[in-house]
Amino acid sequence: MKNRYCPNCESNKSVVEKKISIPVGNVSFSTKTLVCKECKHYELTPKIIKEMDEWGRGLTKNIVEPQPIFNEATHQFAEEMAKQYGLKRVPFFRLLTVYYLNHVVNRKDFHEIKKFCDEHSAKELFEGSRSKVSVPIRYLLFRKLQTFSEVWEVTHAKAIEEAVLFGLTVLSAEKNNFDTLKQIAENLQQYIADVAQAA
Ligand SMILES: [Zn+2]
Repeated sequence: MKNRYCPNCESNKSVVEKKISIPVGNVSFSTKTLVCKECKHYELTPKIIKEMDEWGRGLTKNIVEPQPIFNEATHQFAEEMAKQYGLKRVPFFRLLTVYYLNHVVNRKDFHEIKKFCDEHSAKELFEGSRSKVSVPIRYLLFRKLQTFSEVWEVTHAKAIEEAVLFGLTVLSAEKNNFDTLKQIAENLQQYIADVAQAA
């Protein structure tokens, strides 16, 4: 095999095809690619990412299980909201997280919305003693969470807490005078209804 140059350590003859193992939550994805024998460097190419996504979509088990912490009022409120849609609390937490990561954090006005929500969240959602809940996560949501966690330097659990508190604030702010939020609330309700129906 032709020797290759390593862009990382600048060695000229140490790149060979090897098996690599990429940790993905509690499991790992294995494939073969060009790896530098000297410094172990390899490129995370679009091809590898595509293979990994295909593998991940086929996984039937949860690959991480973050444990966000909420106070009693939040647990109760989520339980009641979930029930209205015929859902359980933990899938409801997951659903709020998916919505947040897919439809909220990438908005141009995200910072404005977030600030408004932080200022208008019901105090009850933050008071009193808090307890953990396990939220099992599969591959696709894991990838979203991972990206968000890296960008904002927060744990998976913290990201879920943020998403859930945002969702509950939006859903509970019926008489809010911020049009954008009203619109998000409507979209979110529709989203929950669609998912609940498909479940
Ligand atoms: Zn190297």
